[in-house]
Amino acid sequence: MAGLAGSVAELDAVVSVCRACPRLVTWRETVATEGKRASFADQPYWGRPGPGFGDPAPAILVIGLAPAANGTNRTGRMFTGDRSGDWLYAALHRAGYASQPTSTDAGDGQSLTGVRIVAAVRCAPPGNKPDPAERHTCGFWLDRDLALAAPGLRSMLALGAIAWDATLASARRLGWVVQRPRPRFTHGAETTMVTTTDRSIRLVGSYHVSQQNTFTGRLTETMLDEVLAGL
Ligand code: SF4
Repeated sequence: MAGLAGSVAELDAVVSVCRACPRLVTWRETVATEGKRASFADQPYWGRPGPGFGDPAPAILVIGLAPAANGTNRTGRMFTGDRSGDWLYAALHRAGYASQPTSTDAGDGQSLTGVRIVAAVRCAPPGNKPDPAERHTCGFWLDRDLALAAPGLRSMLALGAIAWDATLASARRLGWVVQRPRPRFTHGAETTMVTTTDRSIRLVGSYHVSQQNTFTGRLTETMLDEVLAGL
C-alpha cells in the first residue's frame, strides 16, 4: 500500500486506514473508545494511524517515535495535543518553521513551512513501546515518506534512538548509501547519506521531546534550538 502512494497526500490518506499490526489496532481503538483520559472524555478521538503533517515538499523531515495515546491518537495530527508536541512546535516556531507556537487540535490553523513531521511507528503503542515486528512493519510507510521527500530534502531530524534506527533502516531499504558501521544515536549525532540520485542528506539526532527528557532537563530548549538551527 505504501509503495502505491504517488504523493504525500495519497500517502497520508492510505496510512490512516492501515490495520497491519493487530496489537496496535486494538490498543489505538480501545483508547479511543473506552480508554479516553477523563479530561478528554467528551471529545471524539481519531483512533487511527497518525498521518504525516506539514510541508508536502519539505527540506527537513522530523521523525518521531509514535503517536501518544491521548495526543495524536486523539487529535489526528502528529505531536498535537500533548506535552511533547508543546515542546516541538514551540521550538519549530522559534526556528521559523511553524506558523504558531502551539498545536492543540487539527483545526487550530497551525502550518509548517519547509518541515514535515512523521513517525517511525504511526499507531499509538501501549507504554509508548512498539515491538520490533511493529517497528519493521511500519517502516515501509517511512520508506515512502523518505522517497517522496528525497528530491528536495536537506536534513532529517530523528527524535530518539528508535527514530534514528528506523530512518537508517529506511534509507538502506531505499538503496541509499549509509555509513558503515551503523552510526550510533546520541543527542547531536550526525551522519550523511547519499540517495540513488546522488543527493546528500544529513541525519541529525536529538533526544526525544518527551516529558521524561524535558521535565528532567536532559533536553533543554537551548539544546533543541541548537539542533534545529543546524538543520
Ligand atoms: S503501526 Fe504502522 S503498520 Fe502497524 S497498523 Fe499502524 S500504521 Fe499500520
